[in-house]
Amino acid sequence: MGIIEFNWDIHYKCNYRCPYCCFYGQWQELSRFNKYFSVEKWIVAWQRIYEKYGSVYITMAGGEPIIYPSLFDLIKELSRKHRLDIITNLSCSKSQLVNFVNQLHSHKLYFSASFHPLFTSFEAFLEKVLIIKEKGILSGINYVAYPPELKRINYFKDKFKENGLNIVILPYRGEYNKIVYPQGYTEEEKGIIYNLSSDLSPEQQEQLSQCMQPDRPKGKLCYAGQKYAFINCDGQVYRCTQSRKVLGSFFKRDLSFLNDALPCEQEVCPCEFRWLVKDN
Ligand code: SF4
Repeated sequence: MGIIEFNWDIHYKCNYRCPYCCFYGQWQELSRFNKYFSVEKWIVAWQRIYEKYGSVYITMAGGEPIIYPSLFDLIKELSRKHRLDIITNLSCSKSQLVNFVNQLHSHKLYFSASFHPLFTSFEAFLEKVLIIKEKGILSGINYVAYPPELKRINYFKDKFKENGLNIVILPYRGEYNKIVYPQGYTEEEKGIIYNLSSDLSPEQQEQLSQCMQPDRPKGKLCYAGQKYAFINCDGQVYRCTQSRKVLGSFFKRDLSFLNDALPCEQEVCPCEFRWLVKDN
């Protein structure tokens, strides 16, 4: 079956309030769904996955993982067996980060750092990014092309470049000034985004164009649920972040994946297009 991948929303809580976040304005409501299980309970369940499927790829997001209780204990243990990518705003202190990365040895752990200039200074973010880069565990830096922030994109891209770092521009998905994005970007704005993305890998380029011109996925065959699944903070496992098709509880032995690719039932696919069966 190949390596299985998981997206895991560890909790719906964040210490930033970025207006371009898909959860903006809903944090209080969403926090009602949070369930906090012990590190041991998660580790036992991930060990079961390891015994059944071998080492898998896990992308952990939320909410903001870095403020999850005992996060460092959890990810240190988990990344001994599985490859783990944490999408984070890196808002922990510098000393916490240094102390943590010094404990890593043969762990398969990476950080995707999201830069939110409305909530952190470039300098404070950079010094933490450089710590994880030096340790060899930086998988990327993300920056959302929020329309009123577009004017600063070139400036920040250059500042990161001066420090030997590339940023990945993520198209904004949502409404701003009654315009729906990413469809609403002007030709000039699209040009800025594509120009700044010319150094991305072919796979990242393809993902960017999918995000810029989203197709309607409904009815197309998709591997979500077979090669990939989404874990919610309450332990329920779904076919993907959009689908309400439950594959089971992450904590139960009878959790099982689909045998085949199935047609997508959603009108939009915000970020997982890559699981669509090619040419269908
Ligand atoms: S195309 Fe996207 S929304 Fe549809 S099933 Fe696949 S991952 Fe989910």
